[in-house]
Amino acid sequence: MKRADVIVVGGGVNGASTAFHLASRGVKNVLLLERRHLGAGATGKSGSLVRMHYTNEPESKLAFESLKIFRDFRNVVGGDCGFEAIGFLQLVPRGYEAALARNVARQRALGIRTEVVAPDRLTELLPGCRTDDVGAAAWEPDSGFADPNATTFAFAEAARRLGVTIETGCEVTRVLTERGRVAGVETVRERVDAPVVVLVPGAWAAPLLTPLGLDFGLVPHRIQITIFRWPAGFGRRHCAVIDAIQQSWLRPEGTNTTLIGVELGTGHADPNSFDEGVDPEFVATCRKALAGRLPIMSEATMRGGWAGMIMMSADGRPIVDQIPSVAGLYCMLGDSGTSFKTSPAIGKCLAEWIVDGKPRTLDLTPFRSTRFAERQPWHDEDHYGGQGLTISR
Ligand SMILES: Cc1cc2nc3c(=O)[nH]c(=O)nc-3n(C[C@H](O)[C@H](O)[C@H](O)COP(=O)(O)OP(=O)(O)OC[C@H]3O[C@@H](n4cnc5c(N)ncnc54)[C@H](O)[C@@H]3O)c2cc1C
Repeated sequence: MKRADVIVVGGGVNGASTAFHLASRGVKNVLLLERRHLGAGATGKSGSLVRMHYTNEPESKLAFESLKIFRDFRNVVGGDCGFEAIGFLQLVPRGYEAALARNVARQRALGIRTEVVAPDRLTELLPGCRTDDVGAAAWEPDSGFADPNATTFAFAEAARRLGVTIETGCEVTRVLTERGRVAGVETVRERVDAPVVVLVPGAWAAPLLTPLGLDFGLVPHRIQITIFRWPAGFGRRHCAVIDAIQQSWLRPEGTNTTLIGVELGTGHADPNSFDEGVDPEFVATCRKALAGRLPIMSEATMRGGWAGMIMMSADGRPIVDQIPSVAGLYCMLGDSGTSFKTSPAIGKCLAEWIVDGKPRTLDLTPFRSTRFAERQPWHDEDHYGGQGLTISR
Protein backbone atom coordinates (compact mmCIF):
# COMPACT_ATOMS: atom_id res chain seq x y z
CA MET A 1 0.00 0.00 0.00
CA LYS A 2 1.37 3.41 -0.98
CA ARG A 3 1.67 6.00 1.83
CA ALA A 4 2.42 9.71 2.08
CA ASP A 5 2.63 12.12 5.01
CA VAL A 6 0.75 14.80 3.08
CA ILE A 7 -1.06 14.57 -0.26
CA VAL A 8 -1.62 17.80 -2.20
CA VAL A 9 -4.35 17.53 -4.85
CA GLY A 10 -3.81 19.97 -7.72
CA GLY A 11 -0.72 21.17 -9.55
CA GLY A 12 -1.65 24.81 -10.00
CA VAL A 13 0.34 27.59 -8.42
CA ASN A 14 -1.34 27.15 -5.02
CA GLY A 15 -0.76 23.39 -4.94
CA ALA A 16 2.86 23.79 -6.03
CA SER A 17 3.45 26.56 -3.48
CA THR A 18 1.92 24.42 -0.72
CA ALA A 19 4.06 21.40 -1.64
CA PHE A 20 7.20 23.55 -1.70
CA HIS A 21 6.46 25.17 1.65
CA LEU A 22 5.64 21.81 3.27
CA ALA A 23 8.94 20.36 2.11
CA SER A 24 10.90 23.44 3.13
CA ARG A 25 9.41 23.08 6.63
CA GLY A 26 10.79 19.57 6.79
CA VAL A 27 7.81 17.39 5.80
CA LYS A 28 9.48 14.36 4.25
CA ASN A 29 6.95 12.39 2.26
CA VAL A 30 4.83 14.90 0.32
CA LEU A 31 2.95 13.69 -2.77
CA LEU A 32 1.47 16.19 -5.24
CA LEU A 33 -1.12 14.70 -7.59
CA GLU A 34 -2.21 16.55 -10.73
CA ARG A 35 -4.80 15.17 -13.13
CA ARG A 36 -3.27 16.75 -16.24
CA HIS A 37 -0.04 18.77 -16.12
CA LEU A 38 1.38 21.55 -13.95
CA GLY A 39 -0.48 24.81 -14.57
CA ALA A 40 -3.32 23.07 -16.44
CA GLY A 41 -6.02 25.02 -14.60
CA ALA A 42 -6.56 28.74 -13.99
CA THR A 43 -2.86 29.22 -13.29
CA GLY A 44 -1.67 28.55 -16.82
CA LYS A 45 -4.16 31.10 -18.16
CA SER A 46 -3.66 33.73 -15.50
CA GLY A 47 -3.25 37.45 -16.12
CA SER A 48 -0.96 37.18 -13.09
CA LEU A 49 -1.13 40.77 -11.88
CA VAL A 50 0.70 41.19 -8.60
CA ARG A 51 -0.75 44.09 -6.62
CA MET A 52 -1.52 44.86 -3.01
CA HIS A 53 -4.55 47.08 -3.52
CA TYR A 54 -7.69 45.42 -2.20
CA THR A 55 -10.71 46.89 -0.53
CA ASN A 56 -10.02 44.85 2.59
CA GLU A 57 -7.02 44.22 4.81
CA PRO A 58 -6.85 40.40 4.88
CA GLU A 59 -6.39 40.12 1.10
CA SER A 60 -3.87 42.99 1.09
CA LYS A 61 -1.93 41.20 3.83
CA LEU A 62 -1.86 37.93 1.86
CA ALA A 63 -0.73 39.82 -1.25
CA PHE A 64 1.95 41.74 0.66
CA GLU A 65 3.39 38.59 2.27
CA SER A 66 3.43 37.07 -1.21
CA LEU A 67 5.15 40.10 -2.73
CA LYS A 68 8.04 39.54 -0.32
CA ILE A 69 8.49 36.09 -1.88
CA PHE A 70 7.99 37.21 -5.51
CA ARG A 71 10.65 39.88 -5.01
CA ASP A 72 13.17 37.48 -3.51
CA PHE A 73 12.06 34.39 -5.41
CA ARG A 74 15.52 33.22 -6.43
CA ASN A 75 16.70 33.10 -2.81
CA VAL A 76 13.52 31.89 -1.13
CA VAL A 77 12.39 29.34 -3.73
CA GLY A 78 14.99 29.18 -6.49
CA GLY A 79 14.50 29.67 -10.21
CA ASP A 80 12.77 32.56 -11.94
CA CYS A 81 9.12 33.53 -11.42
CA GLY A 82 9.31 36.28 -14.05
CA PHE A 83 8.28 38.98 -11.60
CA GLU A 84 8.50 42.49 -13.03
CA ALA A 85 7.84 45.45 -10.76
CA ILE A 86 6.55 47.76 -13.48
CA GLY A 87 4.23 49.57 -11.07
CA PHE A 88 0.47 49.35 -10.60
CA LEU A 89 -2.33 51.89 -10.85
CA GLN A 90 -5.79 51.48 -9.34
CA LEU A 91 -8.33 53.83 -10.92
CA VAL A 92 -11.77 54.46 -9.37
CA PRO A 93 -14.80 56.47 -10.53
CA ARG A 94 -15.99 59.73 -9.06
CA GLY A 95 -17.76 59.21 -5.76
CA TYR A 96 -15.19 56.70 -4.50
CA GLU A 97 -12.33 59.12 -3.71
CA ALA A 98 -12.78 58.79 0.06
CA ALA A 99 -13.05 54.97 -0.10
CA LEU A 100 -9.82 54.79 -2.10
CA ALA A 101 -8.05 57.10 0.36
CA ARG A 102 -9.16 54.93 3.29
CA ASN A 103 -7.96 51.77 1.54
CA VAL A 104 -4.60 53.34 0.75
CA ALA A 105 -4.23 54.47 4.37
CA ARG A 106 -4.91 50.90 5.56
CA GLN A 107 -2.37 49.52 3.12
CA ARG A 108 0.27 52.05 4.16
CA ALA A 109 -0.32 51.06 7.78
CA LEU A 110 0.53 47.47 6.76
CA GLY A 111 3.84 48.72 5.35
CA ILE A 112 2.83 48.63 1.68
CA ARG A 113 4.42 51.34 -0.47
CA THR A 114 1.40 53.06 -2.01
CA GLU A 115 0.01 56.56 -2.39
CA VAL A 116 -3.04 58.39 -3.66
CA VAL A 117 -2.24 60.23 -6.88
CA ALA A 118 -4.24 63.13 -8.26
CA PRO A 119 -5.80 62.61 -11.71
CA ASP A 120 -3.50 65.29 -13.18
CA ARG A 121 -0.43 63.16 -12.30
CA LEU A 122 -1.82 60.14 -14.08
CA THR A 123 -0.39 60.97 -17.48
CA GLU A 124 3.09 60.80 -15.95
CA LEU A 125 2.42 57.26 -14.70
CA LEU A 126 0.36 56.09 -17.68
CA PRO A 127 1.30 58.26 -20.68
CA GLY A 128 -1.53 58.82 -23.15
CA CYS A 129 -4.31 57.93 -20.73
CA ARG A 130 -7.71 59.56 -20.49
CA THR A 131 -8.15 61.20 -17.08
CA ASP A 132 -11.41 63.18 -17.25
CA ASP A 133 -13.53 60.29 -15.93
CA VAL A 134 -11.18 59.32 -13.09
CA GLY A 135 -12.26 60.16 -9.55
CA ALA A 136 -9.09 59.05 -7.81
CA ALA A 137 -6.12 56.75 -8.27
CA ALA A 138 -3.66 54.79 -6.16
CA TRP A 139 -0.10 54.00 -7.20
CA GLU A 140 2.06 51.06 -6.10
CA PRO A 141 5.63 51.30 -7.39
CA ASP A 142 6.60 47.80 -6.20
CA SER A 143 3.78 45.89 -7.90
CA GLY A 144 3.49 44.52 -11.44
CA PHE A 145 3.08 41.00 -12.72
CA ALA A 146 4.85 37.62 -12.81
CA ASP A 147 4.87 34.64 -15.15
CA PRO A 148 2.26 32.24 -13.76
CA ASN A 149 3.62 29.14 -15.46
CA ALA A 150 7.25 29.90 -14.58
CA THR A 151 6.20 30.53 -10.96
CA THR A 152 4.43 27.17 -10.77
CA PHE A 153 7.24 25.27 -12.46
CA ALA A 154 9.78 26.89 -10.12
CA PHE A 155 7.77 26.04 -6.99
CA ALA A 156 7.39 22.47 -8.28
CA GLU A 157 11.06 22.13 -9.17
CA ALA A 158 12.12 23.46 -5.75
CA ALA A 159 9.65 21.08 -4.10
CA ARG A 160 11.12 18.15 -6.06
CA ARG A 161 14.65 19.13 -5.00
CA LEU A 162 13.44 18.96 -1.38
CA GLY A 163 12.05 15.45 -1.91
CA VAL A 164 8.42 16.02 -2.98
CA THR A 165 7.04 13.45 -5.42
CA ILE A 166 4.96 14.99 -8.21
CA GLU A 167 2.72 12.77 -10.30
CA THR A 168 1.02 14.35 -13.29
CA GLY A 169 -1.66 12.68 -15.36
CA CYS A 170 -3.00 11.27 -12.08
CA GLU A 171 -6.55 12.25 -11.16
CA VAL A 172 -7.72 11.90 -7.58
CA THR A 173 -11.15 10.30 -7.75
CA ARG A 174 -12.03 10.34 -4.04
CA VAL A 175 -10.85 11.61 -0.69
CA LEU A 176 -10.96 8.72 1.75
CA THR A 177 -12.11 9.23 5.33
CA GLU A 178 -12.32 6.93 8.33
CA ARG A 179 -14.11 7.82 11.57
CA GLY A 180 -14.39 11.50 10.65
CA ARG A 181 -10.80 12.02 9.58
CA VAL A 182 -8.82 11.84 6.37
CA ALA A 183 -7.35 8.45 5.52
CA GLY A 184 -5.90 9.17 2.08
CA VAL A 185 -7.08 9.36 -1.52
CA GLU A 186 -8.09 7.07 -4.31
CA THR A 187 -6.64 7.92 -7.72
CA VAL A 188 -7.23 6.57 -11.20
CA ARG A 189 -4.16 4.38 -10.52
CA GLU A 190 -4.25 3.30 -6.88
CA ARG A 191 -5.07 4.04 -3.27
CA VAL A 192 -2.64 6.21 -1.30
CA ASP A 193 -2.90 6.46 2.50
CA ALA A 194 -2.13 9.74 4.24
CA PRO A 195 -3.20 11.46 7.46
CA VAL A 196 -3.32 14.87 5.74
CA VAL A 197 -4.81 15.85 2.38
CA VAL A 198 -4.73 19.38 0.96
CA LEU A 199 -7.35 20.09 -1.72
CA VAL A 200 -6.28 22.72 -4.25
CA PRO A 201 -8.34 21.61 -7.27
CA GLY A 202 -9.42 25.00 -8.66
CA ALA A 203 -12.60 24.86 -10.77
CA TRP A 204 -12.67 21.05 -10.56
CA ALA A 205 -13.48 20.88 -6.84
CA ALA A 206 -17.06 19.59 -6.96
CA PRO A 207 -16.40 15.84 -7.54
CA LEU A 208 -14.05 15.82 -4.54
CA LEU A 209 -16.22 17.87 -2.16
CA THR A 210 -19.71 16.51 -2.87
CA PRO A 211 -19.08 12.92 -1.64
CA LEU A 212 -17.76 14.43 1.62
CA GLY A 213 -21.04 16.31 2.06
CA LEU A 214 -19.25 19.65 1.62
CA ASP A 215 -21.01 22.43 -0.27
CA PHE A 216 -19.64 25.95 -0.09
CA GLY A 217 -21.68 27.36 -2.97
CA LEU A 218 -18.72 27.33 -5.37
CA VAL A 219 -19.45 28.10 -9.05
CA PRO A 220 -16.98 27.51 -11.92
CA HIS A 221 -16.64 30.48 -14.30
CA ARG A 222 -15.00 30.79 -17.69
CA ILE A 223 -13.02 34.02 -17.94
CA GLN A 224 -11.18 35.46 -20.89
CA ILE A 225 -8.41 37.82 -21.90
CA THR A 226 -7.47 39.49 -25.19
CA ILE A 227 -4.06 40.62 -26.45
CA PHE A 228 -3.63 43.75 -28.58
CA ARG A 229 -0.54 44.83 -30.55
CA TRP A 230 0.30 48.47 -29.88
CA PRO A 231 -0.36 50.83 -32.80
CA ALA A 232 2.28 53.10 -34.34
CA GLY A 233 3.10 55.87 -31.92
CA PHE A 234 2.75 53.79 -28.75
CA GLY A 235 6.16 52.39 -28.01
CA ARG A 236 6.68 52.24 -24.24
CA ARG A 237 5.69 49.51 -21.84
CA HIS A 238 2.96 50.77 -19.53
CA CYS A 239 2.31 49.89 -15.90
CA ALA A 240 -0.29 47.36 -14.73
CA VAL A 241 -3.73 48.88 -14.25
CA ILE A 242 -7.05 48.00 -12.67
CA ASP A 243 -9.60 50.38 -14.07
CA ALA A 244 -12.81 50.34 -12.04
CA ILE A 245 -14.32 52.89 -14.46
CA GLN A 246 -13.86 50.85 -17.65
CA GLN A 247 -14.20 47.68 -15.50
CA SER A 248 -11.00 46.26 -16.91
CA TRP A 249 -7.50 45.26 -15.92
CA LEU A 250 -4.42 45.32 -18.11
CA ARG A 251 -0.70 44.89 -18.25
CA PRO A 252 1.98 44.69 -20.92
CA GLU A 253 2.66 41.27 -22.43
CA GLY A 254 6.12 41.05 -23.96
CA THR A 255 7.56 44.19 -25.46
CA ASN A 256 4.80 45.46 -27.75
CA THR A 257 1.41 44.13 -26.69
CA THR A 258 -1.15 44.66 -23.93
CA LEU A 259 -3.07 41.88 -22.22
CA ILE A 260 -6.52 42.97 -21.05
CA GLY A 261 -9.46 41.40 -19.26
CA VAL A 262 -12.81 42.90 -18.39
CA GLU A 263 -15.31 42.30 -15.61
CA LEU A 264 -16.38 38.69 -15.40
CA GLY A 265 -20.15 38.94 -15.68
CA THR A 266 -22.43 36.20 -14.46
CA GLY A 267 -21.99 33.21 -16.76
CA HIS A 268 -20.72 29.92 -15.45
CA ALA A 269 -19.37 27.02 -17.47
CA ASP A 270 -18.50 23.34 -17.28
CA PRO A 271 -14.78 23.10 -16.48
CA ASN A 272 -14.57 19.77 -18.33
CA SER A 273 -15.86 21.06 -21.66
CA PHE A 274 -15.19 24.77 -21.95
CA ASP A 275 -14.00 26.68 -25.01
CA GLU A 276 -10.36 27.70 -24.46
CA GLY A 277 -10.53 30.37 -27.16
CA VAL A 278 -11.72 33.96 -26.88
CA ASP A 279 -15.22 35.04 -27.99
CA PRO A 280 -15.52 37.76 -30.70
CA GLU A 281 -17.90 39.81 -28.50
CA PHE A 282 -15.37 39.70 -25.69
CA VAL A 283 -12.66 41.04 -28.01
CA ALA A 284 -14.93 43.96 -28.92
CA THR A 285 -15.62 44.68 -25.23
CA CYS A 286 -11.90 44.61 -24.44
CA ARG A 287 -11.08 46.90 -27.37
CA LYS A 288 -13.65 49.43 -26.12
CA ALA A 289 -12.35 49.28 -22.54
CA LEU A 290 -8.71 49.62 -23.65
CA ALA A 291 -9.41 52.55 -25.97
CA GLY A 292 -11.57 54.04 -23.23
CA ARG A 293 -8.45 54.41 -21.10
CA LEU A 294 -5.71 54.68 -23.74
CA PRO A 295 -7.45 56.31 -26.75
CA ILE A 296 -4.59 55.51 -29.14
CA MET A 297 -5.43 51.82 -28.67
CA SER A 298 -8.56 52.20 -30.81
CA GLU A 299 -6.10 51.40 -33.61
CA ALA A 300 -4.55 48.40 -31.83
CA THR A 301 -4.55 45.06 -33.65
CA MET A 302 -6.02 42.03 -31.93
CA ARG A 303 -3.31 39.39 -31.67
CA GLY A 304 -4.95 36.64 -29.65
CA GLY A 305 -6.63 35.66 -26.46
CA TRP A 306 -7.78 32.72 -24.43
CA ALA A 307 -10.20 31.55 -21.78
CA GLY A 308 -9.57 29.77 -18.50
CA MET A 309 -11.67 28.39 -15.65
CA ILE A 310 -11.75 29.93 -12.21
CA MET A 311 -13.91 28.96 -9.23
CA MET A 312 -15.98 31.74 -7.70
CA SER A 313 -16.90 31.47 -4.05
CA ALA A 314 -20.25 32.84 -2.93
CA ASP A 315 -18.68 36.09 -1.67
CA GLY A 316 -15.86 36.31 -4.22
CA ARG A 317 -13.12 35.59 -1.70
CA PRO A 318 -11.03 32.43 -1.42
CA ILE A 319 -11.57 29.74 1.20
CA VAL A 320 -8.33 28.72 2.92
CA ASP A 321 -9.01 26.42 5.83
CA GLN A 322 -8.74 23.20 7.74
CA ILE A 323 -12.22 21.78 7.20
CA PRO A 324 -13.59 21.47 10.76
CA SER A 325 -15.83 18.47 10.01
CA VAL A 326 -13.00 16.36 8.50
CA ALA A 327 -9.81 16.22 10.58
CA GLY A 328 -6.70 16.30 8.42
CA LEU A 329 -8.45 17.92 5.43
CA TYR A 330 -7.06 21.30 4.41
CA CYS A 331 -8.10 23.33 1.40
CA MET A 332 -7.62 26.30 -0.83
CA LEU A 333 -10.92 26.64 -2.73
CA GLY A 334 -12.86 29.31 -4.59
CA ASP A 335 -9.83 31.15 -5.96
CA SER A 336 -12.33 33.71 -7.29
CA GLY A 337 -10.00 34.83 -10.06
CA THR A 338 -7.62 36.58 -7.72
CA SER A 339 -5.36 33.96 -6.17
CA PHE A 340 -2.22 33.95 -8.27
CA LYS A 341 -0.70 36.94 -6.52
CA THR A 342 -1.46 35.47 -3.09
CA SER A 343 -0.24 31.93 -3.81
CA PRO A 344 3.17 32.24 -2.14
CA ALA A 345 1.59 33.24 1.18
CA ILE A 346 -1.33 30.81 0.86
CA GLY A 347 1.08 27.87 0.46
CA LYS A 348 3.25 29.15 3.28
CA CYS A 349 0.33 29.55 5.69
CA LEU A 350 -1.16 26.15 4.85
CA ALA A 351 2.24 24.51 5.45
CA GLU A 352 2.59 26.30 8.81
CA TRP A 353 -0.90 25.16 9.78
CA ILE A 354 -0.15 21.52 8.92
CA VAL A 355 3.30 21.46 10.54
CA ASP A 356 2.88 23.81 13.52
CA GLY A 357 -0.84 23.46 14.19
CA LYS A 358 -1.65 27.01 13.12
CA PRO A 359 -0.74 29.50 10.41
CA ARG A 360 1.99 31.75 11.81
CA THR A 361 2.58 34.31 9.07
CA LEU A 362 -1.04 35.51 8.93
CA ASP A 363 -4.39 34.94 10.56
CA LEU A 364 -6.53 33.02 8.06
CA THR A 365 -9.78 33.32 10.04
CA PRO A 366 -11.34 35.72 7.49
CA PHE A 367 -10.88 32.98 4.84
CA ARG A 368 -12.61 30.25 6.91
CA SER A 369 -14.95 27.82 5.15
CA THR A 370 -17.66 28.20 7.79
CA ARG A 371 -18.37 31.87 7.10
CA PHE A 372 -21.23 30.98 4.74
CA ALA A 373 -22.96 28.62 7.19
CA GLU A 374 -22.48 31.29 9.86
CA ARG A 375 -24.22 33.74 7.53
CA GLN A 376 -21.20 36.02 7.72
CA PRO A 377 -20.02 36.23 4.12
CA TRP A 378 -17.31 38.70 3.37
CA HIS A 379 -18.34 42.36 3.23
CA ASP A 380 -16.08 45.29 2.35
CA GLU A 381 -17.20 48.75 3.45
CA ASP A 382 -14.89 50.58 1.07
CA HIS A 383 -15.57 48.88 -2.26
CA TYR A 384 -15.73 50.68 -5.63
CA GLY A 385 -19.20 50.01 -6.89
CA GLY A 386 -20.67 46.66 -5.97
CA GLN A 387 -19.69 43.74 -3.79
CA GLY A 388 -20.18 41.44 -6.78
CA LEU A 389 -17.35 42.87 -8.86
CA THR A 390 -14.48 40.47 -9.36
CA ILE A 391 -11.99 43.15 -10.32
CA SER A 392 -10.85 46.19 -8.39
CA ARG A 393 -12.13 45.18 -5.03
C1 LIG B 1 -7.82 34.71 -17.48
C2 LIG B 1 -7.41 34.75 -16.03
C3 LIG B 1 -6.82 35.90 -15.51
C4 LIG B 1 -6.44 35.94 -14.18
N1 LIG B 1 -5.78 37.05 -13.70
C5 LIG B 1 -5.29 37.05 -12.43
C6 LIG B 1 -4.49 38.13 -11.96
O1 LIG B 1 -4.23 39.09 -12.70
N2 LIG B 1 -3.98 38.06 -10.71
C7 LIG B 1 -4.29 37.02 -9.86
O2 LIG B 1 -3.83 37.04 -8.71
N3 LIG B 1 -5.05 35.99 -10.27
C8 LIG B 1 -5.55 35.98 -11.53
N4 LIG B 1 -6.29 34.93 -11.98
C9 LIG B 1 -6.66 33.89 -11.03
C10 LIG B 1 -5.51 32.95 -10.75
O3 LIG B 1 -4.91 32.55 -11.95
C11 LIG B 1 -6.07 31.76 -9.99
O4 LIG B 1 -6.75 32.23 -8.84
C12 LIG B 1 -4.95 30.81 -9.55
O5 LIG B 1 -4.12 30.49 -10.63
C13 LIG B 1 -5.56 29.57 -8.93
O6 LIG B 1 -4.53 28.63 -8.71
P1 LIG B 1 -4.88 27.23 -8.06
O7 LIG B 1 -3.61 26.49 -7.94
O8 LIG B 1 -5.66 27.46 -6.81
O9 LIG B 1 -5.89 26.54 -9.08
P2 LIG B 1 -5.67 26.02 -10.58
O10 LIG B 1 -4.58 26.73 -11.26
O11 LIG B 1 -7.00 26.00 -11.25
O12 LIG B 1 -5.14 24.55 -10.36
C14 LIG B 1 -5.96 23.49 -9.94
C15 LIG B 1 -5.30 22.23 -10.47
O13 LIG B 1 -5.90 21.10 -9.87
C16 LIG B 1 -5.99 20.08 -10.83
N5 LIG B 1 -7.03 19.16 -10.37
C17 LIG B 1 -8.34 19.42 -10.22
N6 LIG B 1 -9.00 18.36 -9.77
C18 LIG B 1 -8.08 17.38 -9.61
C19 LIG B 1 -8.16 16.02 -9.19
N7 LIG B 1 -9.31 15.46 -8.84
N8 LIG B 1 -7.00 15.30 -9.15
C20 LIG B 1 -5.82 15.85 -9.50
N9 LIG B 1 -5.70 17.12 -9.93
C21 LIG B 1 -6.82 17.89 -9.98
C22 LIG B 1 -6.33 20.82 -12.10
O14 LIG B 1 -6.03 20.08 -13.26
C23 LIG B 1 -5.49 22.08 -11.97
O15 LIG B 1 -4.23 21.95 -12.59
C24 LIG B 1 -6.69 34.84 -13.32
C25 LIG B 1 -7.27 33.67 -13.84
C26 LIG B 1 -7.62 33.62 -15.19
C27 LIG B 1 -8.21 32.35 -15.74
